[in-house]
Amino acid sequence: MTKIVIVGGGAGGMEIVTKLGRKLGRKGKAEITLIDRCDHHIWKPLLHELATGSLDEGLNALDYRMHASQNGYRFEQGMLAGLNQVDRQVVLAPMLDEFGAEILPERKIGYDYLVIGVGAVTNDFGIPGVQEHCDFLDLTEQAMALRKKIRHRFLRYAKEHNVEQEHFEISIVGAGATGVEMAAEMHHAADTLRGYGYDIREDLLQVNLIEATDRVLPRIDKPRICNAVAKELAKLGVRVKTDTRISEVTPMGMHTADGQFIPSDMVLWSAGVKGHPFLATLGLEVNQADQIMVHPSCQSLSNDRIFAFGDCAACPQEDGSWVPPRGQTARQMALLVGDNIEKLMADPQATLDGYVYKDLGSFVNMSKFHTVGNLMSFVGGGMTVEGKMARLVYTSLYRRHLIALHGVSKGLLLMLLNGLQRIMRPELKLH
Ligand SMILES: Cc1cc2nc3c(=O)[nH]c(=O)nc-3n(C[C@H](O)[C@H](O)[C@H](O)COP(=O)(O)OP(=O)(O)OC[C@H]3O[C@@H](n4cnc5c(N)ncnc54)[C@H](O)[C@@H]3O)c2cc1C
Repeated sequence: MTKIVIVGGGAGGMEIVTKLGRKLGRKGKAEITLIDRCDHHIWKPLLHELATGSLDEGLNALDYRMHASQNGYRFEQGMLAGLNQVDRQVVLAPMLDEFGAEILPERKIGYDYLVIGVGAVTNDFGIPGVQEHCDFLDLTEQAMALRKKIRHRFLRYAKEHNVEQEHFEISIVGAGATGVEMAAEMHHAADTLRGYGYDIREDLLQVNLIEATDRVLPRIDKPRICNAVAKELAKLGVRVKTDTRISEVTPMGMHTADGQFIPSDMVLWSAGVKGHPFLATLGLEVNQADQIMVHPSCQSLSNDRIFAFGDCAACPQEDGSWVPPRGQTARQMALLVGDNIEKLMADPQATLDGYVYKDLGSFVNMSKFHTVGNLMSFVGGGMTVEGKMARLVYTSLYRRHLIALHGVSKGLLLMLLNGLQRIMRPELKLH
C-alpha cells in the first residue's frame, strides 16, 4: 500500500491529513501517517489569545491520537531530525522527558510520498541578546509560559504590593499583524484583570510597538486598514516607534541602531519568520531563510517525492514573487499537495497542478477593541470591512478550520461550546 507521511500537524498539515485520511486511509487505499513534535494541535493564529488567557486551551486543543483514530490515519509523536532519501525514510529524534530521560528511542519511518509542513520560527536576524532575553510566539508552550509571566508581572505590579514601578513596560518588536494584535491583547488583559479586582493603575501598562520600516502593518498594502489600526493603537495608548532598528537586547531593554535605549520589562519578538534551521540539514535545497525550495506543484526542487507547503516552503509565483507565510496559504497549498499526490498515485506521469496565490483578504483583530480587514483582495483591490462584520469574517476562518477537522455537526457543536464558555466562564483564563 502507498505510504504517505505528513510531518507537521499545523494549520495546513491538519487539513491535508484529515482529507487524505478520510478519502484514502479509511478505505485502505493508502497508509497515512502524521508526525508532530507535540501530542496536540492548537491553531497557530490563536497563540496570542492563548498567551493572554483569552483563549481556553482545554476547549481548543485537539488531541492528534484521538483525531487520527477517527479519521483514517495514524499518529506518531516525534521531531523530524533527518531524512534518508535513498531508502525513503524519515528519522525521528529520540523523545526525552523534561528531565532528559529517554521516553522513545530514535525511530525511522518509511514513505512513498513525504509531505513537510513544519511551519516556521521567528527570525532573530542574528541580533545579539534576542534569543536570550526575548519571548516568542512560535509554540503553544511559549504562549503558555508567556501567559504565566504576564499574569505574574501584573500581580507583582498591582498597587497593593507597593512595588516601586512607574510602568509595566512591554516592548513588542515587529508591527505586523501579530505584533499589533498582541499589543491590543495586552490592553484587553490589563482591563479585564482590573475588572477581576487586581489593583492595576489605568496607566501602569505601557506597550511599545517597534517597527523597522516607516509604518505599522508593512506587509498590508491597504492605507485604510493601516490608518484604522494606527488610530486604534493611539487610542489604546500604545507607543508606536517606526523607523527603529534594534541592534541589541539586554535584560533591561533594547539598544537601537541610532543610539537610543528603550527600557523594557519584557520584550516580545515578532519581527518576521524563517524556516527551522534543521531543514537545511535534510539534503533538500533551501533558500537563505532555511525554507525548502519547491516548484509551484509544491514538490521539492531536489526530490519529486517530497512536497513542502506553508511557512516552511519557498514557492514561486509567475510574477516572480513568493507565496507569503500565512494561514490561508498553508491551508490552500496543503490541499493542493493532497490532490497532487492522489494524481501521482493514479498515474506517476500525471501533470500536477501549480499553486497560484489568491489573496482572499487580510484581517487584523485588535481584541475586543476593533477588527478591520480587506475581503477578496484579488478582485479589484477588494473591499475594506470594519467592526462587527470584520470580526465575523475573522472568526469564520477558525470556524472553517474546525469544520474541516471535525465535520459540520461536531464543528458547529464546538463553536456553540466556545460561545457558551464565553458566557459562563471568566473572559480571561486565570489558571
Ligand atoms: C500569533 C500569531 C497570529 C497569526 N495570525 C494570523 C492570521 O490572523 N492570519 C493568517 O493568515 N496567519 C496568521 N498567522 C500565521 C499563521 O499562523 C501561519 O502562517 C500558519 O500557521 C502556517 O501554517 P503551517 O501549517 O505552515 O505551520 P504551523 O501551523 O506552524 O504548523 C507547523 C506544525 O509543525 C510541527 N513541527 C515543527 N517542527 C517539527 C519537527 N521538527 N518535527 C515534527 N513536527 C514539527 C509543529 O508542532 C506544528 O504543529 C499568525 C501567526 C502567529 C504566531
